[in-house]
Amino acid sequence: MTRLIFLGPPGAGKGTQAQILAQLLQLPHISTGDILRSAVAQQTHLGVKAQSFMDQGELVPDQLILDLVQERLSDEDVIPGWILDGFPRNVSQAIFLDELLLAINQRCDNVINLDVPDEVLVTRLLARGRKDDNEEVIRRRLAVYREQTAPLIDFYRTRQQLVSIDGNMPLDAVTEALKDVVAL
Ligand code: AMP
Repeated sequence: MTRLIFLGPPGAGKGTQAQILAQLLQLPHISTGDILRSAVAQQTHLGVKAQSFMDQGELVPDQLILDLVQERLSDEDVIPGWILDGFPRNVSQAIFLDELLLAINQRCDNVINLDVPDEVLVTRLLARGRKDDNEEVIRRRLAVYREQTAPLIDFYRTRQQLVSIDGNMPLDAVTEALKDVVAL
């Protein structure tokens, strides 16, 4: 039983590492960014509402995200554990998640913070070339991360759930460090 949250700025490798670890642990990788991108691609009600926020590098309003996470965490396949990637993204989402986990009698084991210097993040994101990976939007996403998401580092550190990992290492070395955290 493993339940993990991946924190960390855009470009830190959260998605890549969360996916690798989910595969190794045979657990669902729940990425709110992936869920939103697929909603945008399909132009669902959610996707239509979320698109402009995503294109500008802003967070999508909580009201669009919270129900979606609550529903996903009620699915059968998450009973053995889960890896959350990109959620929570601000303090109110973290408080919502706390209350939700309490209500469904689950506990998150560790919150993983992938630490990567800003200049490396910008270089990596520019190389990735996703739709929201142009320089102006990247800068906004980093600013939003600093303002809204980075406070979660202290939030989880105070509760002794935080594990910081140097994300500025080769991909395999980061995976090895993560495997140590989950005792693989
Ligand atoms: P990501 O793939 O995690 O980098 O997310 C891409 C974009 O989706 C972000 O820039 C936000 O616009 C949106 N997004 C993803 N997760 C969340 C979340 N938990 N809360 C609000 N917006 C989110």
